[in-house]
Amino acid sequence: MTKTDTIAELNLDVERLRKDFPILQTKVYGKPLVYFDNAATTQKPLPVLQALEQYYTIYNSNVHRGVHYLSQQATEAYEAARRKIAGFIHAAHEHEIIFTKGTTNSINLVAYSFGRKFIGKGDEVLISAMEHHSNIVPWQLICEEKGATLKVIPINEKGALKMDEFDKLLTEKVKIVAVTYVSNSLGTVNPVEEIIAKAHALDIPVLLDAAQAIQHMPLNVQELDADFIAFSGHKMYGPTGIGILYGKEKWLNAMPPFEGGGDMIKNVTFAKTTYNELPFKFEAGTPDISGAIALGAAVDYIQQTGIHAIQHTEEELIAYAYERLSAVPSLRFIGDAARRAGAISFLVGNIHPFDLGELLDKYSIAVRTGHHCTQPLMEIFNIPGTVRASFSFYNTKAEVDELIKGIEKARRILE
Ligand code: PLP
Repeated sequence: MTKTDTIAELNLDVERLRKDFPILQTKVYGKPLVYFDNAATTQKPLPVLQALEQYYTIYNSNVHRGVHYLSQQATEAYEAARRKIAGFIHAAHEHEIIFTKGTTNSINLVAYSFGRKFIGKGDEVLISAMEHHSNIVPWQLICEEKGATLKVIPINEKGALKMDEFDKLLTEKVKIVAVTYVSNSLGTVNPVEEIIAKAHALDIPVLLDAAQAIQHMPLNVQELDADFIAFSGHKMYGPTGIGILYGKEKWLNAMPPFEGGGDMIKNVTFAKTTYNELPFKFEAGTPDISGAIALGAAVDYIQQTGIHAIQHTEEELIAYAYERLSAVPSLRFIGDAARRAGAISFLVGNIHPFDLGELLDKYSIAVRTGHHCTQPLMEIFNIPGTVRASFSFYNTKAEVDELIKGIEKARRILE
């Protein structure tokens, strides 16, 4: 929040904003859609849809290659999107913004490229117990290849990291710490500032999985001082197939390319290839041009709406949902950390989460059920999965009331 933000400015006109999202007017089984699966993917506002359409109808062309008019237009729009993203996360340099396919692709890029150069036999990679599979498996693969070991920061019963255990695990053997900023399954907001400060005290770089943070809170990469940050366009009101890896210039310059091909080269001979400068060194082949441009439009939309106002509105909504859910008999929360954002996970009595999710769907309420791509975390809680309601600023208290009614009806049927 800046000094000029007033409470009035922080309160969004949600009913007006909902009109920007055509899909929110959809009816499911004849009733208005209640969309609480925003952690899986958010809905898209009109400016994002229009950016996609305009690219393909007005200036579809490849980037960085043609001298002709359309190619120049496409290149300018693509690079303007990069500038918008750099500005949004306060990167020191535009070339620290790499367009990828999404969070998964961004993390794989770091695991392979950083891992190939900086991880060796006997080294360790430190992740946490609440990671999404996409921040576990790439590290397992590189650890296996290099003879390194994957270590895991444990969590307590509330779903918060055990920071005293982190202190013990953080030794000079660790070559990189890779943790999620916000847990997609529990909603826990991790103390990433402390993690980064402690890792940096030992010269260990930190990767943040910001897939569930970027859309909910302001993120300033220079203040945070994270070395790498990964996020997906489709979870922040942009299209699927596009995402971002932010990397500090010094690391990206020191790392070998991830993929080889067009655009990432300076000069190719059969004897030797020299690589392009940042960011192109990490953008082999024709990128998702329309996706990048539409992600730029999504960033504009978030900026115009106001990320502080989004955060404030969502925090109020989540507090309301939490209070209403707390009153449901036999409902227990999975994850109850002091700092949380985005999602609430729960179970009701002995009802299988899948059964509850299916019934809620019949009441036109979309929630996610299952392990949420965090199987090891579900194992720690000794549960098959959870029901997860995940929120956006465009959700309303009336929709939360619908969710509560739906759960009550389902309880009467299933319990
Ligand atoms: N990390 C977290 C915390 C997530 O929630 C997700 C998706 O749900 C991912 C990574 C993977 O994102 P994507 O599938 O867009 O690559």
